[in-house]
Amino acid sequence: MSKKNVILIVDDIPSNVQILANILKDEYAIKVATDGKRAVELAQQEPQPDLILLDVVMPDMDGYDVCSALNDMGNTKDIPIIFVTANDSVEDEERGLNLCAVDYITKPVNSAIVKARVKTHITIKRQYDELKFMALHDKLTGLYNRHYLMDEADRKISSALRKNEPLTIMMADIDHFKCINDNHGHLVGDKVLIAVAAALDKNKRAVDFVSRYGGEEFVTIFDNCNIEDAKLKAEKIRVAIESLNPENLTVTSSFGLVQLNSNHHNFDSLLKDADEALYEAKNSGRNRVVVYEN
Ligand SMILES: [Mg+2]
Repeated sequence: MSKKNVILIVDDIPSNVQILANILKDEYAIKVATDGKRAVELAQQEPQPDLILLDVVMPDMDGYDVCSALNDMGNTKDIPIIFVTANDSVEDEERGLNLCAVDYITKPVNSAIVKARVKTHITIKRQYDELKFMALHDKLTGLYNRHYLMDEADRKISSALRKNEPLTIMMADIDHFKCINDNHGHLVGDKVLIAVAAALDKNKRAVDFVSRYGGEEFVTIFDNCNIEDAKLKAEKIRVAIESLNPENLTVTSSFGLVQLNSNHHNFDSLLKDADEALYEAKNSGRNRVVVYEN
């Protein structure tokens, strides 16, 4: 059975929270808050809600304030919000919908309507999450895709420069991959790609970013990591891949490493240097790690 979707119910009057919780508790996992500040906290905590039922009139931080606060944060802005309120004037409804709510339910609530509206928006959210996942990931290996790498790399480079932290990127390429495809077929080639991707993913820290750059090429961004440490990591990954033996084949990879420095004005220039180091690794016999030398 799939995991229950999580709904956050927010209302300053506990009996109102209880009414909604009773309507929804059989089908959903429920979180509750009786003030705006707590609602914003809970929206950020795992497991994050898939939907928020939000009262408008509350002391201190009202529903509109909560809506704006959640909309301003990257990790909460995509959570759909349904306003639940006794303010059933057209102006209130318009304001809520303009602000960011996906729907509006008036109190006193009708349980059939609450269930139906919640179900609709949970379904839309689930579809949105699936599409978002597909847009950011490579379908075969499950790693991040090149498109997302480009976005993320710019953010990571800016952050490294701002914090004055080292950042290293690694470009990896499976050796003689074309031969694997030619001699054993594309299905075996795919299994090799999946196995190598899993090894790259397994040997990273939580902050590192691993992506399939294209074909048999992978790009990893090591956050807050200098070239010496990155070299040790790459060497460990090289050995891990060499000992994989996917489909009973000996598979090796070559690696190019470069650390961000003042010569790099963007991610492309960093990639270019990593690619040059990778080229050198290929040229000098493959199955090795080469650091870019200016
Ligand atoms: Mg209220």
